[in-house]
Amino acid sequence: MRLLQPCRYNGPMSSTQILSADTAGIATAAALLRAGELVAFPTETVYGLGGDALRPSAVAAIFAAKGRPASDPLIVHLASPDDLPRVTVSVPPVAERLATAFWPGPLTLVLPRAPNVPLAVTAGGPTVAVRLPAHPVARALIAAAGSPIAAPSANRFGHTSPTSAAHVLADLDGRIAAVVDGGPTPIGVESTVLDLSTPVPTLLRPGGVSLEALRELLGEVALGSRASPKETMRSPGLLERHYAPESALWLVVGPTDPARAWLRTEAEADLAAGRTVGLLVPDEDAALFAGLGAAIEPLGPADDHAAIARRLYAALRALDARAPGRILARDFGTSGLARALRDRLARAAAGRVVLLQGLTRQD
Ligand code: AMP
Ligand code: MG
Repeated sequence: MRLLQPCRYNGPMSSTQILSADTAGIATAAALLRAGELVAFPTETVYGLGGDALRPSAVAAIFAAKGRPASDPLIVHLASPDDLPRVTVSVPPVAERLATAFWPGPLTLVLPRAPNVPLAVTAGGPTVAVRLPAHPVARALIAAAGSPIAAPSANRFGHTSPTSAAHVLADLDGRIAAVVDGGPTPIGVESTVLDLSTPVPTLLRPGGVSLEALRELLGEVALGSRASPKETMRSPGLLERHYAPESALWLVVGPTDPARAWLRTEAEADLAAGRTVGLLVPDEDAALFAGLGAAIEPLGPADDHAAIARRLYAALRALDARAPGRILARDFGTSGLARALRDRLARAAAGRVVLLQGLTRQD
């Protein structure tokens, strides 16, 4: 009789149901959401922890299950752009252009909040972040639930975002009613967040839609402090431990050869001292370092940023398990999806970023 119980986390509850991503599983998940319970589900970016965005008790349960501070607002997910008036008081023409170009997809727009959106969703602020996910399971589930769904990443606060149902359960088993298992998520890093409440659209978080694609459509796009790579590396700020593994991660930024030399020297030093070390590197480096004795999780070809993004969080979790010492990671620059990779890696590094000489100005 789970359906009838409100899902406020007050200590251990029975284990989380695993639902298949078929018609029956989605119908069960939607019924749980309509009953005010929490359900994790796949989106094209990462797994989201869904709850009815218009029901304050469900929103409070999301914060409780994640251990998320009330100051960190949630993204509201819609099944159709027709639902925008349910969460925002006005849709500026620029939002319509962006929605036409990029929705459904990994772009979150920050718009003026409608009064019926609980203040907890927006962390008390006047704006609400909204997105229309492209994943068929997410879309079917939100449509069947019949309400906008607030869905932050389905991990405990500060942990690495989940890209599989197993990752969700590792963090939230017993704390949420169900997870819909739709397999690994196709993009693997969170959505791009674009603030449209500023005079010039401002990139708050780089993600699945690139800055280049936004600039091509809009012309000018400003960089919020978090979206500027240098700022991200210098001042991870409040969300310092966001996306962080348990092991200390070090990120090296610089040209390929010096970066590889740094990785080799540091890994050899750890191994010589009898410590485990993990390498979070592209396939080419993995081949190069195969004989070292380090734990290696190849991410994909260095120039295939989409493949690297898909693998990134699973590889971080695997290295965490294999190499409790240090994890050493390499940067991929700032073009396209690489900007999001740098943001997540720098955040996981929480300030442990090594800048090598030879960087160009735009780096
Ligand atoms: P998550 O859903 O875990 O990927 O995190 C959502 C992120 O979206 C938050 O941490 C904020 O960075 C951003 N966000 C959500 N709502 C707003 C808003 N109203 N204004 C600015 N940023 C927001
Ligand atoms: Mg998150």
